[in-house]
Amino acid sequence: MACLFGHKWNSCKCSKCGKTRDEQHDFDLCKGKCKHCGKTQAEQHSWNGCKCSRCGKTRDEQHDWNGCICSRCGKRRNDKHSWNGCKCSSCGFVREEGHKWVNCKCTTCGREITPKDIEKMTDQSLLCEIAKNTDSPALGVAVAKKLSDDNLAQTIFSNVALNDKVSDGLRVEAIKMLTDQIVLADIAQGNSFGTLRKVAIERLTDQSILSNIVNGETKNFVCSWQETVNEGNDYWSSAKEHTLDLRDIARKRLVELQKNG
Ligand SMILES: [Zn+2]
Ligand SMILES: [Zn+2]
Ligand SMILES: [Zn+2]
Ligand SMILES: [Zn+2]
Ligand SMILES: [Zn+2]
Ligand SMILES: [Zn+2]
Repeated sequence: MACLFGHKWNSCKCSKCGKTRDEQHDFDLCKGKCKHCGKTQAEQHSWNGCKCSRCGKTRDEQHDWNGCICSRCGKRRNDKHSWNGCKCSSCGFVREEGHKWVNCKCTTCGREITPKDIEKMTDQSLLCEIAKNTDSPALGVAVAKKLSDDNLAQTIFSNVALNDKVSDGLRVEAIKMLTDQIVLADIAQGNSFGTLRKVAIERLTDQSILSNIVNGETKNFVCSWQETVNEGNDYWSSAKEHTLDLRDIARKRLVELQKNG
């Protein structure tokens, strides 16, 4: 219906035919948008510090700081915490320093200790305590690497190295730290995965054990295993055969030791 006798304007829009005009808009100031036609303009909030008292929007200026927290919008500033060890006593924020470790757990924030925390530790009595209390092989290895008590460290390394429930990667890490010839000989001559035995042989210094391996029987020292290899697409995969004669590794090791006197 055309408005032959003039439009019936309701601010910028005719309520009869829907035509709009660019005047007398009815702006929602916070949204910066006309309620009738959608025309936009810059947002105009009613700022009360960092917060608009009309719509609740916040901005990153004029906060009302109460220590580390803005009492109006809840924003946190990290240079004004009240530290109690690792935790801010006013907002509860936790930082990565000042933990208080007791039995592998921080008594302040409750977090469990990780191998990464141990890398930064120097307190030997604390390291000993963790070594004695943890049942995590990964933690054990991390602690043992930092222990000045070599006997305790070697005990931990051999427990991990001999534990077939532990991942091969961690066992290799432990074997690489072992000096105990009896444990190394056990692994070298045992039925662990070939690469673990290889790493153990490379740590042996006892020449009579190495000679025993060099002169051992094929069935005891030649390891073979299959690896599934993807041939560049999803449809074809094949088994790659690996063979490792541990006697060769032992022979090389012997030559090396004899060369170094
Ligand atoms: Zn009209
Ligand atoms: Zn309008
Ligand atoms: Zn607003
Ligand atoms: Zn604020
Ligand atoms: Zn705080
Ligand atoms: Zn903590």
